[in-house]
Amino acid sequence: MKQLLFTTALLVLTSFAPTSEDTNVYICDNGKTEVYHLDKNCSALRKCTHGVKPLKLSEAKAKKLRLCGLED
Ligand SMILES: [Zn+2]
Repeated sequence: MKQLLFTTALLVLTSFAPTSEDTNVYICDNGKTEVYHLDKNCSALRKCTHGVKPLKLSEAKAKKLRLCGLED
């Protein structure tokens, strides 16, 4: 049992550990955005009326989002 707890704790710690490639990006939280932004102050993001949501780059890629045209 102790061994199992230790393994579980280790797995949890590992999944939360930030990797160098997992940078923060930002999306307009309108539920249908197809792009992510590296710059929180991007002029395209400022037009967003639904609020800006921070996201990990890996999550953005998992959602098949592409980099904002202004930052490409
Ligand atoms: Zn942008």
